[in-house]
Amino acid sequence: RVSVVLYTSDLRLHDHPPLRAALGSADAVVPLFVRDDAIAAAGFTTPNRQAFLADCLSLLDAGLRERGGRLVVRSGDVVDQVGRVAAEAGADEVHLAAGVSAYAARREERLRRALEAAGRRLHVHDAVITALAPGAVAPAAADHFAVFTPYFRRWSGQRLREVLGAPRTVPVPDRIGSEPLPTAAGLPGVSPGLAAGGEAEGRKRLAAWLRGGLDAYEDRHDDLAGDATSRLSPHLHFGTLSPVELVHRARRHGGPGADAFVRQLAWRDFHHQVLAARPDAAAVDYRTRHDRWRTEATAGDEIAAWKEGRTGYPLIDAAMRQLLYEGWMHNRARLLTASFLSKTLYVDWRIGARHFLELLVDGDIANNQLNWQWVAGTGTDSRYNRILNPLVQARRYDPDGEYVRRWVPELAALAGPLVHEPWKLPHPARAGYGYPAPVVDLADGLTRFRRARGLD
Ligand code: FAD
Repeated sequence: RVSVVLYTSDLRLHDHPPLRAALGSADAVVPLFVRDDAIAAAGFTTPNRQAFLADCLSLLDAGLRERGGRLVVRSGDVVDQVGRVAAEAGADEVHLAAGVSAYAARREERLRRALEAAGRRLHVHDAVITALAPGAVAPAAADHFAVFTPYFRRWSGQRLREVLGAPRTVPVPDRIGSEPLPTAAGLPGVSPGLAAGGEAEGRKRLAAWLRGGLDAYEDRHDDLAGDATSRLSPHLHFGTLSPVELVHRARRHGGPGADAFVRQLAWRDFHHQVLAARPDAAAVDYRTRHDRWRTEATAGDEIAAWKEGRTGYPLIDAAMRQLLYEGWMHNRARLLTASFLSKTLYVDWRIGARHFLELLVDGDIANNQLNWQWVAGTGTDSRYNRILNPLVQARRYDPDGEYVRRWVPELAALAGPLVHEPWKLPHPARAGYGYPAPVVDLADGLTRFRRARGLD
């Protein structure tokens, strides 16, 4: 007997229920990845994620080869390709990790129908992409939790499945042809400081994090210059690390740092369960506030300045330049820059979310769109009137200005916290730095936002 394992956002061998189930019921398995035309057509295969994905596929193939197998890669329509590979291999089952987006739901439905029409079965596995399946816990009168705290309480009380080791061997039938693996070399538009992808890389990072970062996480996770978060988000996005394994290992490690880290992993599950229940929240306001957002037509120059990291607010610009350079940004910086765009500049959150998705290596519909909505005050959060002041945030999270000096070289010669307020320099000296004046007065931005929301 032969089974096909269709890989999507779960590019690993460790703790992989679909692969384990396939190996349990078949003599040979075809691990398949389809470069899906529909995902490319939706503009989701951006340079940074393509480069990271190429690393993931290459290391997945290497891991399979060590176990006597290999990865099969095809491109085209995912349902056609799975059908073809299953027919070539004589497979009677296909295994797949459950997804949460509207697209994943459609893909699953189309696959099920096409496979059943050909006399084959589709097995969909939960708790592969999230620690707890969306819908596993729900409030009494609704299909999902809209507020994190009660969700987290219920989430924390659930027993997660046990962690599965990587299989020793993965026998693959000989006759199944594969396209060459995609490569990251020469891809245009990749951020110069992009991290490397792949399961072996993710496991190395995880080991280092458990050894050297986790204990200080609670105290240091908001310290921008200290860069003291796990940076595991791209590995969670591509599934080179298992969220179930992360929760178990952090809990076993124990302590306040581990508790705080597990809470963040629960935020990830929380957003996934919101999106699964409300797929429209990827594009429309979860809660309408009757905003009449500014857009490219009315705030084009300010939007361009925000994207390019030249708003004249050093902390905002540092963060936006980190995004351009690394394809990644610290959570505190994401909160700040998103608040600045959607509230201080009062620009439609979708414009910011699209820019983030274009660059973020961990760019993810559930986490990105719903975090943007949360910051914009259109999401599940009720504190829709809160606005973050970049200067107050600078004092708190980059008190010496080290983060700004790292990313805004024009200002690197300014010592101490003065780096956050270059407009305080006397005029001739200020001109010498070649750094722009603020695109907006913070008080004006606050007034505009409060009026627009009907808060004054
Ligand atoms: P750590 O602090 O080490 O946290 C561990 C893990 O917990 C992260 O890897 C992530 O999977 C999860 N996590 C942490 N914070 C959050 C959160 N607020 N919501 C959901 N999950 C969280 N995260 C993405 O993975 N993809 C995105 O596209 C994304 N877009 C965002 C956009 C905005 C406007 C904001 C405010 C946040 C966004 N986040 C996104 C959440 C968060 O900023 C990142 O997950 C985090 O910065 C990744 O760094 P880390 O792995 O070092 O996180």
